[in-house]
Amino acid sequence: PSITNHLPTAELQALDSAHHMHPFTTNDELTQKGARVITRAKGIYLTDSEGNEILDAMAGLWCVNLGYGREEMGQVAARQMNELPYYNTFFQTTHVPAIALAKELADLAPGDLNYVFFAGSGSEANDTNLRMVRTYWAQKGKPEKSHVISRKNAYHGSSVGSASLGGMTPMHEQGGLPIPGIHHIGQPDWWAEGGDQSPEEFGLARARELEDKILELGADNVAAFIGEPIQGAGGVVIPPSTYWPEIQRICDKHDVLLIADEVICGFGRTGNWFGSQTMGIKPHIMTIAKGLSSGYAPIGGSIVCDEVAEVINACEFNHGYTYSGHPVCAAVALENLRIMQEENIIDHVQNVAAPALQEALNKLGEHPLVGGVNVSGLMASLPLTPHKESRAKFASDAGTAGYLCREHCFANNLVMRHVGDRMIISPPLIITPEEIAIFADRATRALDATY
Ligand code: PLP
Repeated sequence: PSITNHLPTAELQALDSAHHMHPFTTNDELTQKGARVITRAKGIYLTDSEGNEILDAMAGLWCVNLGYGREEMGQVAARQMNELPYYNTFFQTTHVPAIALAKELADLAPGDLNYVFFAGSGSEANDTNLRMVRTYWAQKGKPEKSHVISRKNAYHGSSVGSASLGGMTPMHEQGGLPIPGIHHIGQPDWWAEGGDQSPEEFGLARARELEDKILELGADNVAAFIGEPIQGAGGVVIPPSTYWPEIQRICDKHDVLLIADEVICGFGRTGNWFGSQTMGIKPHIMTIAKGLSSGYAPIGGSIVCDEVAEVINACEFNHGYTYSGHPVCAAVALENLRIMQEENIIDHVQNVAAPALQEALNKLGEHPLVGGVNVSGLMASLPLTPHKESRAKFASDAGTAGYLCREHCFANNLVMRHVGDRMIISPPLIITPEEIAIFADRATRALDATY
């Protein structure tokens, strides 16, 4: 190929602008600036076409949990490509990578979450969930039990179904979403919306919005509630301790299925295998993707409890993707899970990396621009504020401070994302205390430059 890493950066950027439409990007603005070209990566560091080493405190898009450059993953992928690069699991066939991964996930998942329906991504998996919960109730003779309740500012994906489940207004505004039968209640974001209430009062109040909505629609019409144990793309919204127990109680009381979207929280991010365990909830279905393969191959899925799976398995569920259980992706995911267990990654997060990150963030929290610290395991946000005590927002409320800070991070060879005026941290799970110190140093410089 004539387009390689050896081309000058400006030439690569020009070609990128000429032909490549970037997701969630104003492409014309990017053309002015030129996209940063990432050429390789190792551990927690990216290298760009200018030779800069950039600390990736976002693990790509919250997914490269094992860090970059694990050669075993490539070897497994190559072996599987040579042995069986593809076969479907639709028409009375199966293959070893899909069998082994489903079994492994059933073993890892808590309780009676014993069945797996594979997809190519988190978005696809949430589309599966939407159809699965509706089919479940229809099979049980209650086709009208079909409405699904979600939260404002939730992120469940970009396909029409999953973006409808999500509560992102700018996404709904493009393309006429949400589709019918999906409803959004308030999010448990005490930082932004808690006002004078204590976090505990606010958590309860937000959970009870679910009961209000169920009563308004009629419990016989509500199939499921979906939520991320901790909202990720919404700004790392860690619910008050009162929130999830109340949601669980309400779902149980009204016979509403609970779907935990574990696409970010799953596979160690919060210090347990699943965010549901950190939050003490028992979902009927968990959405998985991202950390399932540490981002090395596109794969997602739904882990389904016995009760739901048994009903779905008794009918033909007219749903599936060409790449459901793709053998190469499944083999890569299996290798990822094997390495995670062999290297005790969950233990490392809980006992080494999370305490070090907490300490570093507490220090960053003293910066005059930082209003607080939200952290669970290796998932965190730092809200920027002009006034610490009142949790005040910047006048423009357009995320200008966050945007500026993100730019200063980049200039200091650090990737931190911003959601409005919140800086987001979600590094590879293998990060060491020494690397966290380097992160904190670069983050401090970026905050100083923003202030
Ligand atoms: N659910 C959650 C909680 C996510 O954070 C994401 C992606 O960021 C998705 C679903 C969608 O996953 P994908 O981008 O793989 O379709």
